[in-house]
Amino acid sequence: MTQGALSIDGLSVHFGGLQALRGVSAEITPGSVHGLLGPNGSGKTTLLNAVCGFVRSTGRVCLDGVSLTRAPAYVRARSGLLRTFQSPKLVPDLTVEELLRVGEHPRGFRPWWLVTALPLRDSRARKSGQQRALATLDLLGLDGSLLAVPIRDLSQGVLKMVDIARALMADPKVLLLDEPSSGMSEAEIARLRGHILELARRGTTLLLVEHNLPLVRAVCDRVTVLNLGEQLTSGPTADVLTRPEVVEAFLGV
Ligand code: ADP
Repeated sequence: MTQGALSIDGLSVHFGGLQALRGVSAEITPGSVHGLLGPNGSGKTTLLNAVCGFVRSTGRVCLDGVSLTRAPAYVRARSGLLRTFQSPKLVPDLTVEELLRVGEHPRGFRPWWLVTALPLRDSRARKSGQQRALATLDLLGLDGSLLAVPIRDLSQGVLKMVDIARALMADPKVLLLDEPSSGMSEAEIARLRGHILELARRGTTLLLVEHNLPLVRAVCDRVTVLNLGEQLTSGPTADVLTRPEVVEAFLGV
């Protein structure tokens, strides 16, 4: 069975008196790329946070038909729901390898008593972790020599790709990308486009918050447009992007 069906049903989020999200729904099919668009402040990041369990919400979130609505964030990550960040705040002193090895943890969960029973420096485990890190960098077209580089020395564009690599280390069924192209050069965005399509081709389901419309047109099967926390419209990408209400609210023309 293909995995990675994400169902979002009537999600609402309040921050005190502010309703940041009102009853947003989306059915995202396995291996598809679903775009989430809208002006600044329309609730896109809040929706990702609600899906991941980073903020309290009402409504339902299901992964492959299993409800995660009451699950805390770490259980959602362990179930295969991983995300990246618009401005990743990664520990600057870690090397890329150390960061990726931390990223491996959510799906490689072991109970504490098993972890403490294992030799701390198991060279075989270290090697397989390092090989996975190398393979993940390779999947994203990043050079293996990056493994030894401290996070603080990465350019913004490479940092965003390394954040995607961190999430991929946990072998996600569904990957939520929060404005991955921001801070990237045109050449990096062109490579990102290829990697998003390749991830989807391999079966990963993607929910993509993005302002770069050429990128959205190139990779998204369907899009949902938010405005003031509400779902303005949803449907096939080419169709939605030409709807007058979208052009007016989002494109501002
Ligand atoms: P977008 O990602 O579309 O730019 P956000 O989801 O970041 O929008 O924000 C939606 C609304 O919720 C905005 O009005 C924002 O100021 C507000 N908001 C977001 N996070 C918080 C928070 N932690 N506390 C209070 N208000 C918030």
